[in-house]
Amino acid sequence: MKYLVVLLVVVIGFWLWRNRRAEDAADRAETHRPAEAPAPALLEIVACPICGLHLPANESVAGQRARYCSTDHRRQAEG
Ligand SMILES: [Zn+2]
Repeated sequence: MKYLVVLLVVVIGFWLWRNRRAEDAADRAETHRPAEAPAPALLEIVACPICGLHLPANESVAGQRARYCSTDHRRQAEG
């Protein structure tokens, strides 16, 4: 019976030690996780100087002086 108690204490001790090690490893993995991919650049909104329409820069038509909502407005502004 005495040995059983000792064995139980050893097993519980080992179990606790193992759990703690697993937690430490998890913590380490979390803190050493490679930096997340950088957030995508903020969507730039531009206003068409002809009609004032706001639209994402990547959907706008680039002119020499500004960005426009359409090729028509670019032509109207820049000829
Ligand atoms: Zn426009």
